[in-house]
Amino acid sequence: QVPVITVDGPTASGKGTLSSELAAALGYHHLDSGALYRATALAVLEAGADAGNEAAVAALAARLPIRFELQRVLLEGIDVSDRLREERVGLLASQISALPAVRAALVELQLGFRRAPGLVADGRDMGTVIFPGAALKVFLTASAAQRAERRHKQLISKGISANLDSLRADLEARDARDMQRSAAPLRPAQDARLLDNSALSIEASVEQVLAWWED
Ligand code: C5P
Repeated sequence: QVPVITVDGPTASGKGTLSSELAAALGYHHLDSGALYRATALAVLEAGADAGNEAAVAALAARLPIRFELQRVLLEGIDVSDRLREERVGLLASQISALPAVRAALVELQLGFRRAPGLVADGRDMGTVIFPGAALKVFLTASAAQRAERRHKQLISKGISANLDSLRADLEARDARDMQRSAAPLRPAQDARLLDNSALSIEASVEQVLAWWED
């Protein structure tokens, strides 16, 4: 069996960074499942499809022409990494991810990332739905204040101005949507290890997870 480590948690908890560093340390593949929801949202925008039409959105998700190459995401061969991070794309991703048919359409694609020598998968339901048999499940948390602060710094470093309070309100709204939806709500798997990284450096978080992994 190819080993899987899952990292789930709320928006801006640092899942992406932790997971890619873990994958690099172990020489494993990395699945950023949020990118699949974001790519589906981008496909909806590009097709001018009705985001409320579950079947239409699921059809786009089911034949997502997506490829991951060297930290970049390609959609139909075009690098869309930056566009996937756009605010409107993230917001739409959060909305369409509540649709059960959309989630179902992305299952096979996600399972396909499980390849030797191993996989680190990050998202909201990696440990609860997609890889319930994962050898190690991590549920990452950080206070809303801390997460808003990090996102703020990220944006400022890219030269984008942002308001801390509205960033926090936005991520709390997204968390609420992820936790309250009926399809794969955000919650820790029963056997997940909880990691609150509010006061931890990235290196310290990586070390903690590696220590659990070697355990
Ligand atoms: O993690 P990221 O912010 O890139 O994910 C974009 C959106 O996709 C999230 O707001 C969340 O609602 C959704 N998502 C999900 N299940 C996953 C990963 C992401 O519902 N496994």
